[in-house]
Amino acid sequence: MSSSNAAYTNKEVLHRYMQLPTHGNVQCMYIWIDGTGEGLRCKTRTVDFEPKAPEELPVWNYDGSSTGQAEGSNSDMYLHPVALFDDPFRLRPNKLVLCETYKYDKRPAETNFRLSCRKVMDRAKDEHPWFGMEQEYTLLNQDGHPFGWPQRGYPGPQGPYYCGVGADKVYGRDILEAHYRACLYAGVTISGTNAEVMPAQWEFQVGPCEGIEMGDHLWIARFLLHRVCEDFGVVASLDPKPMPGDWNGAGCHTNYSTFAMREENGIRHIESAIEKLAKQHKRHIMLYDPNDGQDNARRLTGHHETSSINDFSAGVANRGASIRIPRQVGEEKKGYFEDRRPASNCDPYRVTEAIVRTTILDDWEEEACGYDDDY
Ligand code: ADP
Ligand code: MN
Ligand code: MN
Ligand code: MN
Repeated sequence: MSSSNAAYTNKEVLHRYMQLPTHGNVQCMYIWIDGTGEGLRCKTRTVDFEPKAPEELPVWNYDGSSTGQAEGSNSDMYLHPVALFDDPFRLRPNKLVLCETYKYDKRPAETNFRLSCRKVMDRAKDEHPWFGMEQEYTLLNQDGHPFGWPQRGYPGPQGPYYCGVGADKVYGRDILEAHYRACLYAGVTISGTNAEVMPAQWEFQVGPCEGIEMGDHLWIARFLLHRVCEDFGVVASLDPKPMPGDWNGAGCHTNYSTFAMREENGIRHIESAIEKLAKQHKRHIMLYDPNDGQDNARRLTGHHETSSINDFSAGVANRGASIRIPRQVGEEKKGYFEDRRPASNCDPYRVTEAIVRTTILDDWEEEACGYDDDY
C-alpha cells in the first residue's frame, strides 16, 4: 500500500475479525446526503432481525450541525429509511440503508431532493419513465494528484486511454472491478463500466431504473465507490472538471425513455420531448449540478465532447450536442435519448425530476419542496 497513506491499516488483520459470528445481530448502515448536496455520511446501528423492507427499520437521528444541515442549538435531524441494499463489506444479512433527511419540524432538509422527486415520479408513473445514468469519476491520491499520473508533469495527450488496456493506458482498474462486484452484490442495477478519455478517469452506468429508483441506485453506487476507494487508500472525485486545460471533464449523462418512446415509432415522442427540453434549457442547467450551474460552467465549454452551457442542441450520434439520439435509436425509430448536460456531481433526484416535469407533466408551477404528509 502507498506509503503516502499515513492512516493505512492491515486489511488481513481486519479480515480475521470480520469472520466472527454476530449471534443473530444485523448491522444496518444508515446512509444519507449531507448539507453539500454532494457528500455522503453514514453510521451504523444493530438490530436483532433481518429487515426485508425499509419501513421495518426505526427512524433515527443525527447531529445536523456537523453535516452542514442545522444550527448547533437545534441540531437534531431525522433519518427516514427509504431503501435497503445488501452490504458487500459486512456481507449478508447486514444492510445498507438509504435514508431521507428531515428537520425537527418534519420539513425535508434543504438537500433532501428525494421527497419532491418521489412525488413527481408518482404523478408520472403511468408513463413508466426509465433512466440510465453514466457516472464518470476521477481517481486521486490523497494529496489530490490524479492517481497514476507522474509526480511532476503530465501523461501523454488524450487518445489512447478511453476503453484502454495496459499499464500505460489505464490507472486504477482494481477499483473499477471491486466497485462493479460490490454493486452487483448490493443489488444495484449496474449495467456496465469503462475507462474514460482522461487517464485515471472511469465510468460506471446504472440503469435502466424506473422512477425514484434511479436516484436511489445511483446514490448507493456512489457510496460504494467512495467506500471501495477508502479500502484502496484512493479518493474518487466527482468534480466535473478535475484537471483544467486539455483534459476531458466528467459528466453524468442521463439516458431517458418513456413507455411511448420505447414502442413502434416512439421517435415522435422523443422528438417532442426534446422540443420541450429546448424551452427549459436554463432551468435544467440550474439543476444539473449542486451549485446552480457554476460547476458545470467549467465543463460545458463546447470542447472535449460537450456542448456550450449557453446553447441547447440535439442530434443523432452527436457527442457535441446537449442531447444525443443514439444512432441505433435513429435507425429503429424508437428507444431513448441521452441528456449529456448533467455534471458528474449532480443530484440524480433533481435531474430525473426536472426531466419528468418538463417532458411528461409540463409542470413547473408546484413548489419543489414542502412538508412530507406521509412522514
Ligand atoms: P454511451 O454510448 O453514451 O457511453 P452507455 O452505454 O455508457 O452509453 O450508457 C447507456 C445507458 O443507457 C445505460 O445506463 C443503460 O442502462 C441506459 N439505457 C439503455 N436503454 C435505455 C432506455 N430504453 N431508457 C433509458 N435508459 C436506457
Ligand atoms: Mn458511457
Ligand atoms: Mn463517458
Ligand atoms: Mn454517454
